[in-house]
Amino acid sequence: MKVSFPYMDNPVLYYKLLDLLGHDIIIPPRPTQHTINLGVKYAPEFACFPLKVLMGTYLEVEKMGADTIVTSGGHGPCRAGYYGKLHQKILDNAGLDVDIIVFDAPKDWRPFLQNLKKIKLDNSWFRVMSVIRTAYTLAHSMDRIEKLIHKNRAHTLEPREVSDAWEEIQQKYMGIENRQDIAAVEKWARERLAGLEYNFPTPDQRIKIGIIGEIYVVMEGSTNNDIEEMLNELGCEVERSHYISEYIDSHLVPWKWKEYQHILDKADNYLEIMIGGHAKRSIGHIVDYKERGFDGVIHLKPFGCLPELVSQSLLDRVSEDLDIPILSLSIDEQMAKANMLTRVEAFLDLIKQKKEEEIA
Ligand code: SF4
Repeated sequence: MKVSFPYMDNPVLYYKLLDLLGHDIIIPPRPTQHTINLGVKYAPEFACFPLKVLMGTYLEVEKMGADTIVTSGGHGPCRAGYYGKLHQKILDNAGLDVDIIVFDAPKDWRPFLQNLKKIKLDNSWFRVMSVIRTAYTLAHSMDRIEKLIHKNRAHTLEPREVSDAWEEIQQKYMGIENRQDIAAVEKWARERLAGLEYNFPTPDQRIKIGIIGEIYVVMEGSTNNDIEEMLNELGCEVERSHYISEYIDSHLVPWKWKEYQHILDKADNYLEIMIGGHAKRSIGHIVDYKERGFDGVIHLKPFGCLPELVSQSLLDRVSEDLDIPILSLSIDEQMAKANMLTRVEAFLDLIKQKKEEEIA
């Protein structure tokens, strides 16, 4: 069995989870225009954009020799719950012998455990639990460092150096063998980042931007023209509404769900019910960012995403009520970097002008 997985943000977490279980792994390449074109060719035209990019990745890893794909699924009134089935059908119709294993939020533990059995190999259940704990600790550790990068990269003269350091740090995380190694890598990563040169402005001069929207296009830089890096290079600190550790806690760890409820509660004035995807969370995060002193919000909506279309329709009202600028960008295979940069720069000009007026 040669196993692969979706590429989202970076491949480290899925890789380590499968590596520590002893799998033969095909690491998916970072999506490119070729990946997207491949997905667009095979997926139905009306499908939402992330489904197409993932389709492209699955076709690429199949070509590289993968016969099994381990992925996560969704539930609720949105298409994420059908992703696994639809991808499987497209692969079957194309005559490709690939099995997709979908881990969903464990509302019913039976399918979750059946899937675990499929990937546990000869490991004892004790070993499986130990690997899961290691992966969980790894996700949190990497996200702490990534959050630091999203702030610090805005205040260096050489943003590339921070991005290069992040690449190095990911390689170090790739090499961990157990949970104990993670703390040492995190310490090394903090020292590596602290060793770079920064020019931190005073807190009131900093520009902080929140990125909200559908999880895949928010987290996967190849789909959003690396918008975090773009904003950092323009001198803005960035925080995303999605990090993988928070996704795990809020979807796969029932006793942690309560910790994330406050974000959903903050959206109640605008969206009372859950309509699927991360629409309600997107609105809740805008309220949260406003309360925490952010200067603006960028909303990323994939083509074909109904939940984010609904949240997009609320943005004008939320922006006016809270007095916070919001830029909404629709993401599809046509979104060129120059187009996005122009719109982001114009948005930042507006934010800077607003900030100057507030200070004056
Ligand atoms: S949230 Fe949107 S993009 Fe993501 S699966 Fe649901 S409909 Fe598709």
